[in-house]
Amino acid sequence: MTDQQPTGLFEDAIRRLDRAFQYADIDEEAVIKLKHPKSVLQVAVPVRMDNGALRVFTGYRVRHDDTRGPGKGGIRFHPNVNLDEVKALAFWMTCKCAVVGIPFGGAKGGVTVNPKELSRLELERLSRGYIAQIADFIGPETDVPAPDVYTNSMIMGWMMDEYSKIRRQRMPAVITGKPIQLGGSLGRDDATGRGAYYCIKELEQLKNWQPKEMRVAVQGFGNAGQHVAKLLHADGYRVVAVSDSRGSIYKPEGFDVPSLIHMKNTSRQLKAVYCDGSICESVPADQLTNGDLLELDVDILIPAALENQITVENADRIKAPIVIEVANGPTTAEADDILNAKGTLVVPDILANAGGVTVSYFEWVQNKAGYYWTVDEVQSKLHSVMSREFGNVYRLTRKHQIDMRTAAYVLALQRIGDAIEAQGTIGYFTEDDEVLRKS
Ligand code: NAD
Repeated sequence: MTDQQPTGLFEDAIRRLDRAFQYADIDEEAVIKLKHPKSVLQVAVPVRMDNGALRVFTGYRVRHDDTRGPGKGGIRFHPNVNLDEVKALAFWMTCKCAVVGIPFGGAKGGVTVNPKELSRLELERLSRGYIAQIADFIGPETDVPAPDVYTNSMIMGWMMDEYSKIRRQRMPAVITGKPIQLGGSLGRDDATGRGAYYCIKELEQLKNWQPKEMRVAVQGFGNAGQHVAKLLHADGYRVVAVSDSRGSIYKPEGFDVPSLIHMKNTSRQLKAVYCDGSICESVPADQLTNGDLLELDVDILIPAALENQITVENADRIKAPIVIEVANGPTTAEADDILNAKGTLVVPDILANAGGVTVSYFEWVQNKAGYYWTVDEVQSKLHSVMSREFGNVYRLTRKHQIDMRTAAYVLALQRIGDAIEAQGTIGYFTEDDEVLRKS
């Protein structure tokens, strides 16, 4: 490729395109186009704090590509949010929506803030202020946000309300992941974890293992990590280690996951406990660092926190033969090469965590139709999307003898490339007049 190269996380992310391109039957122009986000917005969000002082936060919204449909992607509130990260996350969204075949492009947003330092009212003012600044950039037919790290359904509710006020009409389809009472979809809360769980169930069938023999470590115990851990535990998998931003706990016999979730969500602390109703007792467990958790001798490792966790520094020491990427971008491109050389089976983020955006799509459809589905309908539609696309990616690994990440990018590139080509590439205009005469 002769095209100019950006730097950082986004650069690392788009390196995957070049590898996949050789297996996709599309014009090179599609790859060139995907190396540049379509539009980038940076905003200043002034917020009146509870003590009367004014603070100004920096926010971003990036629409990476919208050839296949409106941009789609979450909003992150985190102290490390920066433009490079938001661009990378928007790029992954473009690829993810294509992998699961939903009619969206990719977008992402974020505010550089530590939300844990804000009161609830400050958080609400920030959320509404951010939407006011990006209101002309988003919309049900242009760019549809959703929750991401440290944002949740309550925040999506405030944001939808603010957008509706600005537009002077109720517009639930502008944002997904809303509370059920405000047009959210049943089954959205656990959709990301559930999608990853369906991928693991596909592997279980392929590899013929017994759930009770499988030891699982989960890094990150938020929305995505909790739900995949809970579904696996209910199936008999042994969840032996979990972590949050403060550290990890490890118990080789496995934890009672519902107890850990109860403790984490009521006390905001990750503690090794067993709960009978609301009475919880400590159970013996080792305290580890987050780095230790990644390197544990387990059968399945699930990074479900942030990007850049498996890097060239620790990839050699990752013992789990199977990695299910529930977080976005947990493995760097260089670390990927090391894992591939070791034979580690990595189910990539753009497939493993696509359950969330799939049910976000269902929510958008329900909002536009004004007709709401049961949780069984949502889950069975999600199940069929995930198993169909897992199967498509897996078949590509066999066909080209490639890893699952490359295969997922091949599938995404093929779908995006076909759409870009349908709009007209250089070949369309120069090859011959045949195409033009036919149309
Ligand atoms: P969340 O805010 O609900 O949870 C994040 C969790 O990660 C928290 O438990 C936090 O304590 C923990 N954490 C933060 N830094 C950590 C560290 N260094 N080590 C270990 N744990 C750490 O966020 P979430 O929605 O669960 O998102 C987690 C990941 O999944 C992100 O990469 C996000 O982009 C991705 N994802 C989420 C969704 C979704 O629907 N929520 C969809 C697709 C992808």
